[in-house]
This record gives sequence, structure tokens and C-alpha cells, in this order.
Amino acid sequence: MEEQITETQKNLTVFSLEGKLALITGGGSGIGFDIARCIVQAGGRVVITGRREQPLQEATNVLGERATYQVNDVTERASLNKLVERIETTVGPIDILVNNAGINLKKPALDVTDEDFDRIVHTNLNSVFSLTRACAQQMMARKSGSIIMISSMAAYYGIDRVVAYAASKSAVEGMVKVLASEFSGNGVRVNAIAPGFIETAMSKTAMSGDPDRFARAMRRTPMGAFGKPEDIGWAAVFLASEAARYVTGVSLPVDGGNSIGF
Ligand code: NDP
Repeated sequence: MEEQITETQKNLTVFSLEGKLALITGGGSGIGFDIARCIVQAGGRVVITGRREQPLQEATNVLGERATYQVNDVTERASLNKLVERIETTVGPIDILVNNAGINLKKPALDVTDEDFDRIVHTNLNSVFSLTRACAQQMMARKSGSIIMISSMAAYYGIDRVVAYAASKSAVEGMVKVLASEFSGNGVRVNAIAPGFIETAMSKTAMSGDPDRFARAMRRTPMGAFGKPEDIGWAAVFLASEAARYVTGVSLPVDGGNSIGF
């Protein structure tokens, strides 16, 4: 038996992100905003990005002095090395990267144009690789870092009318395993979170114009309700923290039980 549990241990400091800096793409709204909020609540600092300045400004006002923003479009891949360089020079070393920015398109597969397909894959997959590579170079040199991809249960199930989205998220899941394997020797962990139905603008749009879609979604969800963005935020805090120091290469479903299957 080890010595008595100390006061520090009682305060769960193993989940603390004190002294850590996180870069969160798409952090001005939806799931990304709550990931930022949970990381700040856990003691960390955040830099959030997005294409529009106003939501980023509003979000940082709410998050307080430990949050700053950079206007950045992740699809402009040539800008991503510079983004990382700028943050590392002006704010500090990036300890945690959350690849959250993502877009969806709800269309029957045969109506999806090449341009549609490329746009989704470019945002949800290609840019994720470029930004991850830029951050990982720095993290590997410091022998420490946590990279988190926001995937989707659409990577696992045949959800109709999201062919490009599902393809992009499945590919991200594959990338997680390879990068986790390549980076683990240098103290950098790579994991994914696979959200189920979460209450955000994106899921509202996906449910719109199809009254039966919500009922079908709930039939697939044993817990019988949508999740909240902060449910993803706390999972991200766990994966970024010391509590997950032996966790790499996994995809954590946060989905009210969708992944139990039927
Ligand atoms: P939202 O549409 O509510 O938010 C998306 C965020 O990403 C916005 O802040 C947007 O800001 C930003 N964004 C979009 N494109 C870009 C870009 N090219 N460059 C930089 N930022 C961008 O979506 P959610 O919060 O619902 O989704 C967040 C993540 O969670 C996505 O990866 C999504 O696939 C995933 N997910 C969501 C689920 C859900 O039920 N909501 C379920 C499963 C996965 P701006 O427009 O200003 O650029």
C-alpha cells in the first residue's frame, strides 16, 4: 500500500492544464469554443482560430485573459507553418493541438460534385495533416505534446448523405494511428475524439428539412439525447492532461452510446 493520498492528489491535479498552451482550430463557436472553455477552466491558455474575426473576438471576451485569437483559414495550407511560428514566438510553445475546425455537406452521394468533395476533404483532412505536421515538428523537438483530432461517428457508420464528410473523418482516424506510432518515441501523443450528435450549428443544419432525421438519430442514441459541446471539451481536457499520459492512438467515442451498436 502506498502512502496516504495527499491534498494535492485529492485536488486532481493530474487533470490540470496549468502552464499549458493549446491551439484550437474553429474555436470561436460550437464544439471548439467549449473545448477552449474547458481547457481554460482546467488552468490552460488557449489560442483559438477561425475564418471570421467577430466570433473569435466574442469568444475571447468570454474566455478571458488566458485566451487570444488568430484569424486563419485552415484550408490556406501555406499559412499554417507561419501561424504556428507566430504563436510560438508571440504567445509561447504549443503543448496541445486540437484539430477541431470542420465542415459538413448533406447531399445524396450521386449529387456530390468533385468541387464539393474536394472542399470537404481539403478542410477536414488535408489541412489537419499540414497543421499537425507544423506543430509536431516543434513538439517532437521538445519531446512533449498532445494532438487531438475531432473526428466523428460518421467515420464508423453508414450515415446517409455525408459521403465526403465520412471519407474525411475515416481518413483522419487512420492518420491518428500512424502518427501516434511515429511520434510516440518523442513524447508526443496523438488521439481522436469521435463525437456523436452534439448540439451545435452544424448538427442543426444536418437535421434541418427532415423531421424524421432527429427521431432516427435518437433511436440510434441509447442515452436518448444530444450531447453538449462541453462533453467533448472535458474529453479533450482528459486526453491533453497527464491523466492520459499512457493513452495514444485511440479514438474516444463521446456519443451517448451510439457506438454500442444494435
Ligand atoms: P460548427 O459549424 O458549429 O463550428 C465549426 C467551427 O469551425 C466554426 O468556428 C468555424 O468558424 C470553424 N471553421 C470552419 N471552417 C474553417 C476553416 N476553413 N478554417 C478555420 N476555421 C474553420 O461545427 P461543430 O462545432 O459542430 O463541429 C466542430 C467539429 O466537430 C467538426 O470537426 C465536426 O466535424 C465535429 N463533429 C461535430 C458533430 C456535431 O454533432 N456537431 C458530430 C461529430 C463531429 P469560421 O466559420 O469563422 O471559420
